[in-house]
Amino acid sequence: MISEFSRPSDKDLNRLASLLGDRITKDEPIGPYTTYRVGGPASLFMRAMSVDDLHAASRALAKVKIPVLMLGRGSNMLISNSGFRGLAIALGPFAEQINLPSSDQDPIVVVGAMSSLPVIARQSVAAGLRGFEWAVGVPGSIGGAVRMNAGGHGSDMIASLLSVRIFHIERGIEANVSAANLGLRFRGSDLNDQHIVLSATLRLARGDKAEGESRLAEIVKWRRENQPGGQNAGSVFVNPVSGASSAGALIDGLGLRGHRIGTASISDKHANFIQADEDGNADDVVELMTFVRQRVIESHGIELRSEIRLVGFSAAISQEAGAIDQGAVSRNTQLESAFGSANNTDLSIPVPSFSEQLSDEVLAELKDAFDGDATPSANLRVVLPNDPDKSRDESRDESRDESRDNSSTTNSSLTLKTNNGRIVIVDEDLRLPVDSDHPIDEMTSSVNIAPTSDPSNIIRDSRIEARSKGVIRSLASNRRRLLTAAGSVVGVVALVLIVLASPIVGVRKVEIEGARYVSADLLIAVEKSLDGKSILTVDTRAAERRLEGDPWVESVRIKSFFPSRLVIEIVERKPVAFYIGVDNRSRVVDPQGRVLAVETGQPTQYLQITGVGPNLAPGASAGTVYKAAAQLAAGLPTELSDRVLNVGVGGPNQLVMTLRTGTLINFGPPIDLQNKLISLLVLLRRQDAKQIIAIDLTDPRTPTVKSK
Ligand SMILES: Cc1cc2nc3c(=O)[nH]c(=O)nc-3n(C[C@H](O)[C@H](O)[C@H](O)COP(=O)(O)OP(=O)(O)OC[C@H]3O[C@@H](n4cnc5c(N)ncnc54)[C@H](O)[C@@H]3O)c2cc1C
Repeated sequence: MISEFSRPSDKDLNRLASLLGDRITKDEPIGPYTTYRVGGPASLFMRAMSVDDLHAASRALAKVKIPVLMLGRGSNMLISNSGFRGLAIALGPFAEQINLPSSDQDPIVVVGAMSSLPVIARQSVAAGLRGFEWAVGVPGSIGGAVRMNAGGHGSDMIASLLSVRIFHIERGIEANVSAANLGLRFRGSDLNDQHIVLSATLRLARGDKAEGESRLAEIVKWRRENQPGGQNAGSVFVNPVSGASSAGALIDGLGLRGHRIGTASISDKHANFIQADEDGNADDVVELMTFVRQRVIESHGIELRSEIRLVGFSAAISQEAGAIDQGAVSRNTQLESAFGSANNTDLSIPVPSFSEQLSDEVLAELKDAFDGDATPSANLRVVLPNDPDKSRDESRDESRDESRDNSSTTNSSLTLKTNNGRIVIVDEDLRLPVDSDHPIDEMTSSVNIAPTSDPSNIIRDSRIEARSKGVIRSLASNRRRLLTAAGSVVGVVALVLIVLASPIVGVRKVEIEGARYVSADLLIAVEKSLDGKSILTVDTRAAERRLEGDPWVESVRIKSFFPSRLVIEIVERKPVAFYIGVDNRSRVVDPQGRVLAVETGQPTQYLQITGVGPNLAPGASAGTVYKAAAQLAAGLPTELSDRVLNVGVGGPNQLVMTLRTGTLINFGPPIDLQNKLISLLVLLRRQDAKQIIAIDLTDPRTPTVKSK
């Protein structure tokens, strides 16, 4: 890891900038990203809009080594006047998700790293959860809180943190790390600048909402009474060993409240807070920190340690101000091992040692879900490449190939082979056809012309012509009689129609079937428009069209039953998932990615498509990748559906899924989903998902699996 004190050359900075292109801004002032609101620029700054951006940064950093600084909400950080020479990264809105459980689920909350602590505290209480109220007055992000093991009011992150999803920027790998392996301690952890927290999983407790709310109010009140507002980063020094006085009390005891150096002063309200003036500068804050620390050493012999991260100051200045050397953080082997061995790039699962069959039911389910996608053959069978039966299987395969020419009923086999240590699923029948499989057939593009349509093929015959003339004469003599009869029939029919078109046979009863989500107002209006109209002339098509205008309605058929009943049969679209738009409102979508409803809360009865999506109105269709995510949500076979936490859009062309075990599945581009699900099922039957960190299904025939 490159220490933050190393000074990269202009050439290296420029090279990294050109590798990352327009993901990067140069000389971005990052003071405004902190609660101190002082300090200079970062030479390079990237707001990662997806994990893809982090991968891109990781690849670039593999070529050019420069220091990295992760920015959260900047509430525990002081940036020097000269700024940060390196790449500063902040996470975009994709990392601001808060997933709360529904009332019948375990009280597990999954939050994106940039989610704000006070928002999580309030939303969890509103959802009837207890245990995170302490964070309501801590203005940081969950990512910063994990790294700092933030806490207060008798609690801290350790109390509820189950696991964290981390992107290792040096190695370009994502992993779930259990809280126990993070080296969490009082206001610190073993995370360093290579570990980017993407999300955290918290276990809270179900509890009384009113009690939770009064606890929140109590904490907010205490904060207002005891802590200053304005520009600061909370407590400057960590409280020394337990049992001794707090850092604030030690400073207070020296009569330093209100003490000022330049634009920085010790708060009158809380002696462990150092305030910066509005037009202040970071050097004054650090000078005041050093002064205070020196006075405490002289008076009490206690060396206070800075709780605030000092960024861009020289090693000597940082040390005198009591900051720990970020580069000197010990390497936690348990934490590192979550990302696999550094020397071992083989992320595959061991070659499985048994055969596997997918049942007809599972395949039928997948076929139904992905109608139109490739249809897998039944009785998929895994054949091991080194299986003692291999030769037998191969010879069977050969004979199968031969018999295939004669019979189309032969089953196919799904073969697992190893390819440079990776599992390769080879199944010709599962493979979707590609253009090269079916070279364009010139013949099929031509139109066949029937031989009789060629005038030269019509044979003229004089007997046929004579018979035609006789028929015409007899028709003329009958015409007069027919006209008279037809006149009377038309008169009678017209009379009957006049009677039937009148409200004497009007619609008196309208029955509605299949309506669950359709707008009730619309139904009432349509019903009124039909009521009393003649059953024979009522314009049911207009009513159908009106109902079909509702985003929930897929199709409508209105049936008339003489003399006075109409039945409106409605087929509604099926809600399968929801995503959150940039405006923070949820969009419920059907398997076609069509927005059915826009809601302010999170409709937890559907699977969430994570990632921040477009702000669409009901009736509009989200892009292809959302459509694919919705289809994935709708097409999960029963065997998988209970195990899936969410599906997600990991980029403009990237589908992901998270299992309840925390396993991240990358589906890659949103194509070939049926085959990817089959690969996934086979893998999950073979390996305990709890042991799997990630599965990459970008190519369903060569899935890679990263195990713990
Ligand atoms: C008024 C006030 C009151 C406060 N009260 C408390 C309190 O009661 N208890 C307490 O513990 N703290 C308190 N703090 C300090 C601060 O709010 C917490 O430490 C908070 O958790 C920091 O989060 P952040 O997002 O602001 O982190 P930042 O300040 O942005 O960063 C802090 C550290 O975390 C790293 N980091 C940030 N995001 C990530 C990420 N996604 N992945 C990996 N590393 C990351 C940074 O590189 C840095 O090393 C207070 C601050 C203020 C201003």
